[in-house]
Amino acid sequence: MSIPIHKYDVVIVGAGLAGCAAAREAAHAGLSVCVLTKLHPLRSHSGAAQGGINAALSEEDTVELHEFDTVKGSDYLGDQDAIKLMCEKAPETIRWAERMGAVFSRNDEGKIAQRPFGGQSKPRACYAKDRTGLTLLQTIYEQAHRDGVDFKDEYYVSDLIYENGKVNGVFAFDLIDSKPMIFNARAVMFATGGYGRAFRINSNAHANTGDALSIVARHGLPLEDMEFVQFHPTGIAGSGVLISEAARGEGGILYNSKGERFMEKYAPNKLELASRDVVSRAITKEILEGRGCGENKDHVLIDLTHLGEEIIMTRLPELRDLAITFLGQDMIKEPISIAATAHYSMGGIPVNKDGHVRKNTKEFVEGFYAAGECSCVSVHGANRLGANSVLEALFFGRHVGQTIVEDVKRGIAFKDAKVTDATPALERIESIRTSSGNEKVPALREELQQGMTDNAGVFRTEKSLLVQQENIKKLKERFKNVRIDDKSKIYNTDLQEAIEFSHMLDYSSFIVDGAIHRKESRGAHYREEYQTRDDENFLKHTMAYMDKDGNIKTEYMDVVMGYFEPQERTY
Ligand SMILES: Cc1cc2nc3c(=O)[nH]c(=O)nc-3n(C[C@H](O)[C@H](O)[C@H](O)COP(=O)(O)OP(=O)(O)OC[C@H]3O[C@@H](n4cnc5c(N)ncnc54)[C@H](O)[C@@H]3O)c2cc1C
Repeated sequence: MSIPIHKYDVVIVGAGLAGCAAAREAAHAGLSVCVLTKLHPLRSHSGAAQGGINAALSEEDTVELHEFDTVKGSDYLGDQDAIKLMCEKAPETIRWAERMGAVFSRNDEGKIAQRPFGGQSKPRACYAKDRTGLTLLQTIYEQAHRDGVDFKDEYYVSDLIYENGKVNGVFAFDLIDSKPMIFNARAVMFATGGYGRAFRINSNAHANTGDALSIVARHGLPLEDMEFVQFHPTGIAGSGVLISEAARGEGGILYNSKGERFMEKYAPNKLELASRDVVSRAITKEILEGRGCGENKDHVLIDLTHLGEEIIMTRLPELRDLAITFLGQDMIKEPISIAATAHYSMGGIPVNKDGHVRKNTKEFVEGFYAAGECSCVSVHGANRLGANSVLEALFFGRHVGQTIVEDVKRGIAFKDAKVTDATPALERIESIRTSSGNEKVPALREELQQGMTDNAGVFRTEKSLLVQQENIKKLKERFKNVRIDDKSKIYNTDLQEAIEFSHMLDYSSFIVDGAIHRKESRGAHYREEYQTRDDENFLKHTMAYMDKDGNIKTEYMDVVMGYFEPQERTY
């Protein structure tokens, strides 16, 4: 079979904020850049970010405070070299985005407006109404086009071409007609976003299936801190669709079925603006202890009515629309129903602060980079603060783009790919397409997601995690017996979903395995049997590797410390 081999200096997988920012920088410096994305770029999940992007811009705020809040928010697992770099560069990142054309909301003095977010000492989140992500994404995407980036929309990447410690490209197929091809490059960057779809109740786009993580893991490369999944306090009850933290930032108050403002009990100082892990556990606890609202007592209420119509219509118009669409509740007139929802992936492909992917705790892979939510540069450690992730994607996207330019100039070798490099990926796809078992992907996926929400969610126990480990093992066996009905090559979404599900199975096993090994509670990871943080044994990153049989081996890696010594974390 003849397979086209396309050659570029740089191939980037993913066209969210991280991918677009990196592509723009590399192309602006004169490199030939191709961006592969399974969605139209503007449908990337970055476009769903409502609340904002952090930077210590105002006179009352400082970079050091931003650093401290981020380190504390991370429950001291964040790498302080990367945190320092990101917080120092945050104001410049905002100015850069503005120069590129992004229009931020302004305050009465005409300065960029900033709203308070959970776990932050000062109002720090810059925003464009409640459409911050979309505004930024449209701007950077446009600018990347202007610099000549070659965007290939609706191309699905399903393998990495990796040999002798060097990445030489990726394998992809065109979703329109399933045509396979190789993209051969000096430098490959993954910017494929998060993995929240592993959970039934989640706030993520359907595309957030963590493909790149499993692709990397299948080559024996490590994944870092996968047990840390953030549960956002305010998902729409039942579906998990996000009501942004802007709702609490603007003054939303949480009530249980007894009409109690229960955050007074859990975080007497910060109340609703404690960090996300704290508020999510409080909400879940109220529900588990029978103080939930509604017929099934499965949610609590957030009240925004006191803000009045004008504030809601100017600052939270999209949130109001979402609540009307999904709940039939108008936040101007009544409190709305919410519960915790799987939201963000702190773990991912391990990288250093310049975006070089780690081969193990000591070495790096040549020509391979990652940034954004799929990566773990560990600025968020065990828990991410609201509005730090759009910052991470935009800043590190740009920064890693610049790293690639420097590395290419210094001379990363171009190694020609061979047609046979596509063989493993082609065989995998054909085995799914032609398999004639009796299992169906949607049913298997539902079982995985329900199991993850029930057994590896906000509260975890040894028992629940072992149950889920077993579930995943059985689902992997059943997946061998899967059958897809659409055997054609034209827009075969059945096939795509089956491949995506196989990725979800692999990385979910990392989430569960990491959670079993981490016998402590830290940030978003909460173990009922070990309710406190254990710095002596677990102030370290999980580095996990999968063998050919799917077994996972765990190592640990030191946390990069800095000015801030671990303290007790209270809000
Ligand atoms: C509802 C919601 C609201 C949020 N609000 C905020 C907020 O207000 N502030 C904040 O800081 N953070 C927020 N976040 C988090 C933040 O938006 C994301 O972490 C960040 O935008 C991720 O950017 P990214 O570039 O890494 O990935 P994404 O924007 O998710 O882009 C991923 C890209 O990878 C491509 N891709 C994936 N797999 C493949 C494949 N196999 N082949 C080809 N292409 C592939 C996709 O097509 C897409 O282009 C929010 C998240 C959600 C879900």
